[in-house]
Parts: sequence; C-alpha cells; structure tokens
Amino acid sequence: MLSLEITQTSSGSELNQKNRILLVEDEELIRDMIVVALEEEGYEVRTARDGRVAIDILQGTDPANPDFMPDLIVLDLMLPEINGLDICRLLRYQGNIVPILVISAKGSETDRVLGLEVGADDYLTKPFSIKEFIARTRALLRRQRYTAISSTPVQKFRDINLFPQECRVLVRGEEVNLSPKEFRLLELFMGYPRRVWSREQLIEQVWGPDFLGDTKTVDVHIRWLREKLEKDPSQPEYLITVRGFGYRFG
Ligand code: CA
Repeated sequence: MLSLEITQTSSGSELNQKNRILLVEDEELIRDMIVVALEEEGYEVRTARDGRVAIDILQGTDPANPDFMPDLIVLDLMLPEINGLDICRLLRYQGNIVPILVISAKGSETDRVLGLEVGADDYLTKPFSIKEFIARTRALLRRQRYTAISSTPVQKFRDINLFPQECRVLVRGEEVNLSPKEFRLLELFMGYPRRVWSREQLIEQVWGPDFLGDTKTVDVHIRWLREKLEKDPSQPEYLITVRGFGYRFG
C-alpha cells in the first residue's frame, strides 16, 4: 500500500511540478493568459517578450533566469529582435532537442509546414482554446520522455549507427539519407529495441497528436525505412511486423 502511494505521488509530480516551460510571446494579453493556464497545471513558467531574451535564457546568459533549462518551449513566430523561426533553426542547429510548440497568428499551411520543417514539434494557430493548448502541451511533454532517453551522441544497434544530434545515420558504414519523419521513427525504435509499438503510438510519438492522416502513413514510412536499412526489404531483420499489434525494432 505504502509503495503504491509513493509511486502515484512521484508520477503526479513528474507530470506537473517538475516540468519547466519557456513562453516566448510579445503580446502581453496572450502571455498573461497562457502563464495563468500553465501555472494552474502546476508547470514552472518563465517568459521572454522578444527573441533576444529567449536566446539569452536558453544559453544561460540571462541574469534574471540563470540555469533555466526548459522541458518545452512555447514559441510565437512574429517577435521583436529575433523571430520564432530563427530561434527554432538556431536551437536545432545547436543540437538542442527540446520540444517546441509554435503558436502563431500566421495560419497558412505554408507557415505551418515551414515551422515544422525548421524543427518545431507542433503548431497552434491563434486564436486557440486554452483547453486545446494545454492538451498539446501535455502531449509534447509526454513525448519528450521518450526522446530524452535517446539524446546520447550515438545510438548503435547491430550495424546501424544513429547520431541524434547530427541527424545522421550510418548503415553498414554507409551514410543513408532519411527524411525527418523517417529519422525520428528510427530514433524512437532504436531507443527501445524489441518494444512493440502500435501504429497509433507511432503516430502520436512521431507525427504528433494533431496528425490528421490515417495509420497507413506509418506503413508507408516503414516500407521506405526498410528500403534504406534492410539488406533485403522483403525479409526485414530490423523493422519487424508484429501481426495484429504493429511493429518492433530488432
Ligand atoms: Ca507576436
């Protein structure tokens, strides 16, 4: 009984109090509204009102916020000093894998795609409901627990070497080119050898909770990955189909 209680308490605090969020937003009303909502959820929140301050905080050079390493960044795109897309690019270029939720009034499909292409993990168009915002925040923080474990300089499995921070993969000593989704999928698989993943779990981890396509997308990406990784894609040794469940690695 006692150990059960302790476990429940610690997993509760892991979900809430321990998660730190950096909110980068220049509009005061939106900033205040989000801060209130996140603090109600138990998250520790720091704010930056322009891109320069955000970069300073992230690089540990902001005197007001030393040593604040966020578990999630909520990032507006249109910002004074340095815009959100450039912040995203810079962080990913430096190998920082912190999840980024973009919030932007720029609602066009191009902006959304661009945001995701420079390394954002999810995208919400303003105005959004706070409920929706909190749901996305929770999902990204949940996802982060998987990627955090795999943030080592190199992951090896048999003759595959994956370099998470360089976004490179060597198969039998040869460099292979993977799309961002293929890379993320492989990184997830390699972090958990032999674990069986359902298609829905893979969609949530790799494409995000707001993905609108169907689970056939997973099968297509697995087929492409097999063509790039397997000696004989029709007799896969890495990406194994587990009938009725999904896929496993190894
Ligand atoms: Ca703005």
